[in-house]
Amino acid sequence: MFFKTIDFSKYSSIKVGQPVEILMIEEGDDIPKDRYLIGGANNLLVSPKPPSLMMLSKDFATIKEEDHILTIGAAMPTGRILSYTKKHDISGFEFCSKLPGTLGGMLAMNAGVKEYEVFNILHSIKINGEWVLAKEIKHGYRFAELGGIATHARFKIQIGFDQGLLDSLLNLRSNQPHQPSAGSAFKNPENDYAGRLIEAVGLKGTRKGDMQWSDMHANFLVNLGGGTFEDAKYLIDLAKEKIFKKFKVVLKEEIKLL
Ligand SMILES: Cc1cc2nc3c(=O)[nH]c(=O)nc-3n(C[C@H](O)[C@H](O)[C@H](O)COP(=O)(O)OP(=O)(O)OC[C@H]3O[C@@H](n4cnc5c(N)ncnc54)[C@H](O)[C@@H]3O)c2cc1C
Repeated sequence: MFFKTIDFSKYSSIKVGQPVEILMIEEGDDIPKDRYLIGGANNLLVSPKPPSLMMLSKDFATIKEEDHILTIGAAMPTGRILSYTKKHDISGFEFCSKLPGTLGGMLAMNAGVKEYEVFNILHSIKINGEWVLAKEIKHGYRFAELGGIATHARFKIQIGFDQGLLDSLLNLRSNQPHQPSAGSAFKNPENDYAGRLIEAVGLKGTRKGDMQWSDMHANFLVNLGGGTFEDAKYLIDLAKEKIFKKFKVVLKEEIKLL
């Protein structure tokens, strides 16, 4: 293992944060229990005082095909998974298009689009050195109780990359803002949409400093330039408070605040 300084104002998708020393885990290392693991930081909001952090090194950015099973390392970026599966005519990963991150982040978040989620195609995950079947892991809409660090995952190979599906899922992103963000800030509550609620309490387009509830898609917190953690936190708390007051709905963050 070795240390690397990562500047979250550049590395994170929302471009908020500062340089932080990160412990980089290499193949064969014992993974520390007292550090928080990050992936590609596409779902994170880093505070000025984050917990001690670690990350899987490129040793875990692997992809291997054997006996109709695809084994992928948790540091593998989703874009590379998509290009591999397209090239090899493998189906199931089309929803990874424009879903930024690493496989590890996808597993922990049970990331997905509409009814397409990573757990639907997953066979098993190597967690803290042991292979665990996907069906034995509690998971649901944007969560999975991995109970440890995922280093690899296995998928049964199904032939037939579906370009039509990819194109239709990409179409859904046409109302997605282009400014830096961490994707959806809140999970959708049951039978409703967080974006609708944010709009209904008049916060769509509301700005604090350089952070804004997007005027394009209200559930996206966007950074207009020099946005800070404090500004983002202010807007998140304001939305939760107003929505609870008006609708008695408790919104839960999808973004992880560190
Ligand atoms: C423009 C944009 C669009 C997005 N669209 C979508 C979308 O359509 N659907 C969707 O689901 N998400 C979406 N997201 C959110 C984000 O892409 C996903 O949550 C993604 O899976 C995060 O991956 P990451 O590697 O960046 O994880 P990070 O943000 O670094 O971490 C997320 C969580 O995963 C945990 N984690 C990471 N690696 C591991 C590991 N190896 N083992 C255990 N835990 C781990 C971290 O501890 C953290 O809790 C979007 C984000 C952006 C910026």
